[in-house]
Amino acid sequence: MNFMEDKLIDLAKSAGFTNAEWIDVSQIVCDRKFREQCAVNACGVYGKCWMCPPDIGEIDALIDEVKSYSRGLLYQSIFELEDSFDFEGMVEGGRLQNVRSRALDKGLKELGYKNYLHLSKGGCGHCSPCAKAKGEPCPFPEEALSSLEAYGINVSATVKGTSMKYINGVNTVTYFGIVLFRED
Ligand code: SF4
Repeated sequence: MNFMEDKLIDLAKSAGFTNAEWIDVSQIVCDRKFREQCAVNACGVYGKCWMCPPDIGEIDALIDEVKSYSRGLLYQSIFELEDSFDFEGMVEGGRLQNVRSRALDKGLKELGYKNYLHLSKGGCGHCSPCAKAKGEPCPFPEEALSSLEAYGINVSATVKGTSMKYINGVNTVTYFGIVLFRED
């Protein structure tokens, strides 16, 4: 691992993430079936956010885009819950994950990084509601974040090739994100 890779892991940890690790893009498992799962709309955001399906784009093109990168900084946050029915705790963890992702993104930009692809948890969450609700363009394209699942990434299968765990014990919820880079 080179100096900058070490530095970006430190940056992710300082943004608040529990763990961060570099992976090769060849380790990322993609599955176009995730688009069908999004369309079920269990999260209630399908078709209501510019960064979510179907507006984010066609699934095969997005998977091709993921595979066009070289390496990824995969990160996770593990949050404690009161019990397995602690829905409020899960929502709060999701909100914090997006706050941390944007802190990491700000740090990357301050270091001069650009042309990377940053994917966090489902739903951009930067505005409430998303400008999509009024059919208006996104006013914050630099801060908008899409999700691993919207790009067809099978997170549980991808994590198997890393030191991280997808599930981290009873009464916890874990959220992931990744920043994809091309070789210079
Ligand atoms: S930044 Fe706001 S308007 Fe843009 S995609 Fe995210 S939630 Fe929607």
